[in-house]
Amino acid sequence: MISSEGQVFDANFDVLVIGAGGCGLAAALAAADAAPGLEIAVLEKLDRMQGNSMLSSGSIPAAGTRFQREAGVEDSPAVFVADLNRVAGEHEAPALSDRLAQVSAELVEWLVDRAGVQLTLVKTYKHIGHSVHRLHSPPSRRGTDLMHDLLRTAEARDIPIAFGNPAVDLVVSPEGAVVGAVAVTPSGERTVIRAGAVILCTNGFAANRDLLARYCPEVAGAAYGGAAGSQGEAVEWGQQLGAAFGNMTSYQGHASLADPHGSLVTWTVVEKGGIVVDGQGRRIGDESIGYSAFAAVEMTHGGPFYEIADTRVRDLTASGQEEYAELVAIGGVAEAADVTSLAARLNMDEAVLAGTLQAAAESAETGAPDAFGRTAWGLGALQAPYTVTRIAPALFHTQGGLQVDGEARVLRTDGSVIPGLYAGGGSAAGISGNRSGQGYMSGNGLLGALGLGYIAGRAAARQVQETKATE
Ligand SMILES: Cc1cc2nc3c(=O)[nH]c(=O)nc-3n(C[C@H](O)[C@H](O)[C@H](O)COP(=O)(O)OP(=O)(O)OC[C@H]3O[C@@H](n4cnc5c(N)ncnc54)[C@H](O)[C@@H]3O)c2cc1C
Repeated sequence: MISSEGQVFDANFDVLVIGAGGCGLAAALAAADAAPGLEIAVLEKLDRMQGNSMLSSGSIPAAGTRFQREAGVEDSPAVFVADLNRVAGEHEAPALSDRLAQVSAELVEWLVDRAGVQLTLVKTYKHIGHSVHRLHSPPSRRGTDLMHDLLRTAEARDIPIAFGNPAVDLVVSPEGAVVGAVAVTPSGERTVIRAGAVILCTNGFAANRDLLARYCPEVAGAAYGGAAGSQGEAVEWGQQLGAAFGNMTSYQGHASLADPHGSLVTWTVVEKGGIVVDGQGRRIGDESIGYSAFAAVEMTHGGPFYEIADTRVRDLTASGQEEYAELVAIGGVAEAADVTSLAARLNMDEAVLAGTLQAAAESAETGAPDAFGRTAWGLGALQAPYTVTRIAPALFHTQGGLQVDGEARVLRTDGSVIPGLYAGGGSAAGISGNRSGQGYMSGNGLLGALGLGYIAGRAAARQVQETKATE
């Protein structure tokens, strides 16, 4: 931290956003929307948008949207919170789940109406934990489209985004308020920026092996499927400011990255009836606990792993999800006419693999829980011809971070607010509880990013306006 006392500032903004991911762009746009005329700027460490929001499937959960009503889906924040809490379990930021569920419909409608984002209600899958269809996503089901829409709108509103300018420190007043940040330009010059409010949108610490070893040791050595920029600056700065942290042991894992292609194999394949087997052709658990929780099961067991489905599941999934369709097109989803050729392809004992498929089919047909307790089988029992993809588990992002209040203001350990400092997305505590990868429900990442960005941008704009009014 550097002190503002006697400091010469090189630039001055009303609202300074650090990080040009989903959280940062939502925060900047929300601030601009709430108070036209404010000077807003975004600092981005990397030379273009490469954060997790770009890598994501762009799925944002929201309860009570007009898109749900048009589709005849009945939902409410209360139902959403009940779903979130059931999956999250033990929690250090429960008020945040309520706040984000409450704001979720307003957020999604604002993204469409004011932030220029194309979103549709996903009706072909719900993903684990959601009791109704409430994921809203770009038609392509890709985060890149979401982010490019946000970027276009930010450019249209003349919000400067300084790519290749990492923030390396915060500026703090003698009273303990955050009043700016220090950035480094691409040519290596330090720029000290004064700001009426600073919004931390730097994501979490999944790319920082030291912080992972400290807070999430069981995934510190796992393959990493997230962005390089998630180095955990918000944790470091928060510690220096005496901030409170929540849910630091929580993270999103994913059980199915195509191996070796590296692309995400959507869990829709499992939700439609697919299974995961090990190198012997045996299942290792109940896949319906979700892709994040199942990643931990895979990590404990040790690979290789194969996701087996059938051509009905493959074609239905590929028809709605571009990334999976591309994986199919490049040969990442192999086809086998029957169990004999599937076993031969995977070099497995045919009797073992046939027994695995038979046991799963019996559960799907009778409705009785299988040996692992699984009862949800999507399209029903798998049928030949089968499909198979070799998969591996990975860590996607951390879900722990700075404790914030309902206005996204960062809190100290004594519960007081750090004036001038806001946080959202992976920089803030998440809503997935504190039980490693088990509490993550699809959409928790982007809801925390876009939802807290939206809340923080509006609150920061209001704070700056109030300060100006009293000056
Ligand atoms: C493969 C994958 C799929 C996913 N799918 C989904 C999904 O469908 N739905 C969902 O809800 N979640 C999903 N997630 C999680 C979700 O992507 C993240 O939780 C969310 O994008 C976080 O948004 P963010 O703005 O906090 O971080 P990011 O989008 O990562 O943005 C942070 C930005 O800050 C920049 N930055 C970092 N440090 C600094 C610094 N010091 N100075 C300046 N800039 C800095 C980074 O470079 C980055 O651009 C997925 C994640 C992955 C990896």
